[in-house]
Amino acid sequence: MTDKFSKENRIDIRAPKEWAAGIPAVLSAYTNVSSKVGAIKGPKLLLDANQLNGFDCPGCAWPDPLHERATFEFCENGAKAIADEATSERADANFFANHSIEFLKQQSDKWLNDQGRIAQPMRLAEGQSHYRPISWDEAFALIAKQLNALSSPHQAAFYTSGRTSNEAAFLYQLFVRQFGTNNLPDCSNMCHESSGVALGETIGIGKGTVTLKDLENAEAIFVFGQNPGSNHPRMLSSLQAAKRNGAKIVTINPLDETGLKRFKNPQEVSGVLGEGTALRDVHLAVKINGDVALIKGLCKLLIERDNQGQNVLDHNFIKAHCHGFEEFKADIEGTPWLDIEFQSGVERGQLELAADIACGSKKTIACWAMGMTQHKNAVANIQLITNFLMLQGNLGKPGAGVCPVRGHSNVQGDRTMGIWEKPPQSLLDAIQTEFAFTPPQEHGVDAVECAQAMYDGKIKVLIALGGNFYRAMPDHDLIAKGLANCNLTVQIATKLNRSHLHTGRTALLLPALGRTEIDHQPSGIQWVTVENSMGVVQTSHGKIPPATKHVMSEVRMVANIAEQTLPDSNIDWRGLADNYHGIREHIGKVIPGFADFNQRIIDEGEFALPNPVRDQRQFNTPTQKANFVCHPLRSIAVPDGCFLMMSIRSHDQFNTTVYTDNDRYRGIYGSRRVVFINAEDIAALGLQDGEKVDIKSHWQQPNGEVEYRIEEDYRLVSFAIPKGNVASYYPETNNLIPLASVADKSNTPAYKSIVVSLHQRD
Ligand code: SF4
Repeated sequence: MTDKFSKENRIDIRAPKEWAAGIPAVLSAYTNVSSKVGAIKGPKLLLDANQLNGFDCPGCAWPDPLHERATFEFCENGAKAIADEATSERADANFFANHSIEFLKQQSDKWLNDQGRIAQPMRLAEGQSHYRPISWDEAFALIAKQLNALSSPHQAAFYTSGRTSNEAAFLYQLFVRQFGTNNLPDCSNMCHESSGVALGETIGIGKGTVTLKDLENAEAIFVFGQNPGSNHPRMLSSLQAAKRNGAKIVTINPLDETGLKRFKNPQEVSGVLGEGTALRDVHLAVKINGDVALIKGLCKLLIERDNQGQNVLDHNFIKAHCHGFEEFKADIEGTPWLDIEFQSGVERGQLELAADIACGSKKTIACWAMGMTQHKNAVANIQLITNFLMLQGNLGKPGAGVCPVRGHSNVQGDRTMGIWEKPPQSLLDAIQTEFAFTPPQEHGVDAVECAQAMYDGKIKVLIALGGNFYRAMPDHDLIAKGLANCNLTVQIATKLNRSHLHTGRTALLLPALGRTEIDHQPSGIQWVTVENSMGVVQTSHGKIPPATKHVMSEVRMVANIAEQTLPDSNIDWRGLADNYHGIREHIGKVIPGFADFNQRIIDEGEFALPNPVRDQRQFNTPTQKANFVCHPLRSIAVPDGCFLMMSIRSHDQFNTTVYTDNDRYRGIYGSRRVVFINAEDIAALGLQDGEKVDIKSHWQQPNGEVEYRIEEDYRLVSFAIPKGNVASYYPETNNLIPLASVADKSNTPAYKSIVVSLHQRD
């Protein structure tokens, strides 16, 4: 299926920018909030973003300075996310009466998002063409009826997006487990699941081990597969601080992203008016999926130099804290340079420059994001990054460690709260002790398994606490069919998105209170908590009135669903929603690291969760050590004339939310239907820059047969990307990826390892 709506021709292509932020970022932030929220109200609202008594930015999960805040603690893209939520536009009953589902399906993602906040609960009855209003009581009764009609609780799945607060997430997983299933897929399954799996096996904790201060005090920072200028913009301030403290920065990415070249800090006069700060010292333009080879090359150089007596490795750390070093060393030494250079696309001389920086540093941090986690061998990528750090003892000491950078504001906290289809036994036992019921012991479905189970008719009810499941997943056709197989789909959301248009036989669209909005409950105004990318738990206080009188907090919605569905429950769902302190009391008893949660968070405002690797160099792996892991070089077979494609996000986009069709840093204006490609590859195809093509993906099934999928009408854009590689925007090209194309072990869709061919349009 191709989206007809966005085949526009008004594209304007300019040279990519050489620096990020500065005056354009300030103007963009101001224009967004003032046009969507109001010229005075909008900028005023931004002053509450990420403040100690303000609201947590609903954008990414980048941390704020612990116990310190500047007047402006937001970036351009945070301002866009806030403006988007606090918009004065409303998608109300009239809007839905005037627009059929079929009409809405023909509109672009941006158009859907531009319609504003969903104003009241809506139902799409079976066989109907339009959503119609429904009362909250009727909606909850319908959900309870459908859930209780299932022959097994495993016929329902309960998805969560990373916006959900700790309190709502804890209550949701508690309800789901008392209902009787661990079917708790979440957006982590699509992004950092590979990090969690890899780090869990390697160092015994599935999270990062550094603080903001560590990042600013590191001597070397390696940034793998990440574009912070667009996806975590305030990270650039931390990189700038690190540079000013003398750090060297190495970037590893097929694209030399603008944000990592030079940063003009909008909070500094010299940043706005001056030259800004050069960030990266060395850029390694790795081929797509060449990371394993590249990291093995870096490890090989460190080992070779140590063998030559340069005193590079931290043998004391390796001896005291690591397992498997000798096998790892032998594997690295046995990996030929020819293979490393061929598969990574980076010459040894370039790798030597990066190794010089590693060798000159006593404190090194490695950061990464989706460019590492969404490959078939994503877990290998991350384990090798960790092993690279371990060689020099860069774990569990100030200024050093691993830093997976999370994409959505509370995605890490939701997992901490138990949103996990594979819960650890300790969590289930703690729930049993605290709530006196036996949670289901068998693992549930992750996002990919959920989609397949819906398609196979095994899951009949889907409840989505936020997110855009249909659009975020690969294989849109299969997902749409799976959703259509369901008896009921429930979407809890603030804004309209495409997942609300691909529904079960009956569908509910339930409007949620936004992060920026005041949460009134019977005991008074409530606040919630979130956990950022570096394991700091902080509060979030809504500041503006709710979008309409009908929107409901996610906590209250979950409690109402639970109360209706489980009338004999021993849990006081209503009481917990009346006063969120009660939820935090339970969290304190069930979730490790949250003892005295209410008191601590009230007294301290925010606190860092324990991190055994960072705090004590303690590795809770089966070996009780940090594990070196050997990974062979494997390449994806790319037939002659084909390319390896990765999907990327634009600067005017947050996950699946598209704000505009522009991508300022890459110089693209007016269209998202582009393929970034090396100029020599365009010439080799006998085509011209700017020419239109169809993209055809080639997927070799386990039986050897090749499955083809086509996305039509894209424009070639000559770009600095390695030969043989192309890039295009997520999520438009997701349908090129079959559901079965996933990362080993983590089951994360392989959005960044797609074999494609490009075909000139007639
Ligand atoms: S860096 Fe992320 S969390 Fe911080 S303001 Fe920007 S979008 Fe929001």
